[in-house]
Amino acid sequence: MPQPHILKITEIFPSIQGEGLRQGYPTLFVRFSGCNLKCPFCDTQYAWEEGNAYSTRQVIEEIIKLKHRFPAQWVCLTGGEPLLQGVAELVKELKKEGFNIQVETNATLFQDIPVDWYSISPKPANYFFHPEYKKKAKEVKVILTKDINFESIRRLREEFPEKTPLLLQPQSNRKWSMDLGMKILRQALRAGLKNIKLSIQLHKIYGLR
Ligand code: SF4
Repeated sequence: MPQPHILKITEIFPSIQGEGLRQGYPTLFVRFSGCNLKCPFCDTQYAWEEGNAYSTRQVIEEIIKLKHRFPAQWVCLTGGEPLLQGVAELVKELKKEGFNIQVETNATLFQDIPVDWYSISPKPANYFFHPEYKKKAKEVKVILTKDINFESIRRLREEFPEKTPLLLQPQSNRKWSMDLGMKILRQALRAGLKNIKLSIQLHKIYGLR
């Protein structure tokens, strides 16, 4: 008998989407364990190693159970890096259950799956992203780390279509990082770059996961 596909997952929980253009919407999160990058500023380092084994069916059952008390329409696969694991079957089954699917990814990996909203966040130092995201990303989030520079922002802005928003997201809502965001935004305006906006992590202001 074939063994069920096993996923390693840190947590499954209801919350609001705190980041990006879907900010504020009720969402059911599946946080995958493991990441192929080890960013020093990562605010989910606990997801690098910790996790439990779930079959796809167990994840779906957990999500449906959560939906009874928190009737959200969207499921967000996050991490860690969710695309390190085979998520095609999970996405297909969640779609059959009527959910919309968001994937938050560092964009180094790509899987051809029916995702409704790719929220990508290329990481320093080289801000590499898989070329498929040029068409597929609904938003590009850039974390305002201490060593970010305007040239990285300019290059990212030029590599994506103008209709794809580029969000300047402060690192853990820190003041120095917000100030950096304002500085970069002014530089972007003066340089004529389009569709760049400031962002914030709403869930941290509300004290949510
Ligand atoms: S890519 Fe994201 S999850 Fe992975 S280490 Fe960097 S910040 Fe953390």
